[in-house]
Amino acid sequence: MKVFKFGGASVKDAQGVINVKNIISLYKNEELTVVISAMGKTTNLMEEILKFWYSDKTKMMEKFNILESYHYQIASELEDDQHSITTSIEPFFQRLKKIIAEEPSESFDYEYDKIVPFGEYLSTTIVSQYLNFNGFPNKLLDAAKMIRTNNCFREGQVDWEITQENIKRSFQKYPEKLKITQGFIGGTLEKSTVTLGREGSDYSAAIIAFSLDAQDVTIWKDVAGLLNADPKIFPDAVKLDEIPYEEAIELSYYGATIIHPKTLKPLQNKQIPLYVKSFENPLEEGSVIANVSPIAYTPSYIFKRNQILFSVYPKDFSFIDVDSLSDIFLLLSENHIKINLMQNSALSFSICFDHDSRKLDILIRELSEKYKIKYNEQVELITIRHYTDEAIEKVIGSRKIFVEQKNRTTFQIVVSC
Ligand code: ASP
Repeated sequence: MKVFKFGGASVKDAQGVINVKNIISLYKNEELTVVISAMGKTTNLMEEILKFWYSDKTKMMEKFNILESYHYQIASELEDDQHSITTSIEPFFQRLKKIIAEEPSESFDYEYDKIVPFGEYLSTTIVSQYLNFNGFPNKLLDAAKMIRTNNCFREGQVDWEITQENIKRSFQKYPEKLKITQGFIGGTLEKSTVTLGREGSDYSAAIIAFSLDAQDVTIWKDVAGLLNADPKIFPDAVKLDEIPYEEAIELSYYGATIIHPKTLKPLQNKQIPLYVKSFENPLEEGSVIANVSPIAYTPSYIFKRNQILFSVYPKDFSFIDVDSLSDIFLLLSENHIKINLMQNSALSFSICFDHDSRKLDILIRELSEKYKIKYNEQVELITIRHYTDEAIEKVIGSRKIFVEQKNRTTFQIVVSC
């Protein structure tokens, strides 16, 4: 069995959905599972609906209307007189409207996971219906009923044992060779939906592949494969053809956005290759992440914008020792703050993390009694794997450097944007 994942960009309009069908038609005789994200930038739109649910009901309804017309437009372009797709998405809008007519609870993350998955339910319903009506009979499976997570909303942790059982059982139950499901979401024992972290659909594909011992996973993208840099920043970016799992894990850890960081572990554990291919040119080779031997690496550049550099200095001039570090780490862990870079000296400790005002406020509140605090918002973290002097020169330019770190393979700087 093969697992395919189509991200938002590949299903951003009716033409994208037709393209999905064309790609699937190349694999017509295979057992295939297709994992689909929300269409285009829908997840961002869902986040806005959620935000305004708390703060401005008029704006919330404006966003809701955009959501509705966007999906109705796509659905109507894909349906015909005999086959309505719009009617199959209507119930989702009704349900969502009913939810947001009430007041949200105080738990923002819980509400996030109730609201945002509608994006995935809408997209998978449209794609599944369109394929059904066009010669690709398929079974649409609810990911929230298969992928079991804990109650850690917005960052659900997968219960692998139950998830594997659920997935196997659900897949055995239906004879259709083609299965469709939502990326990015799972569900709790109490049947609440839970998201797996932004861009989590890749991870969903890996969870399914792991559970069913799939032959391989393909992530269909708007790029030719895994590149050594963002072509919008470096037009001379080159494609990496074969990447060992370890190297790909490092690249995604440092923020290479092409693959969600949690995706590779389950695949590596079962030695399932991961292909990254262009949905515009499906017959081209793309890149493969697999158990291949390391090659001579070209430098890879990873730019992580929208970072906060946060530093603490003990007010009483005591050292930053293991006890103080342990307190700080506990706080970071409790608040799910992922460290993208850290550095300490005798009297300071600094971390770089993805911009999040709420998390920043918590850190300031909790640490300001003991520590003097300094922070810079809107900084950028740049990482070069397999750096050379020339590569370093290329990225630094005239930027102001706040932090610099280097080991044998990796060079990192935090700079002004
Ligand atoms: N739709 C979700 C997001 O935009 C998940 C995904 O696309 O992977 O983050």
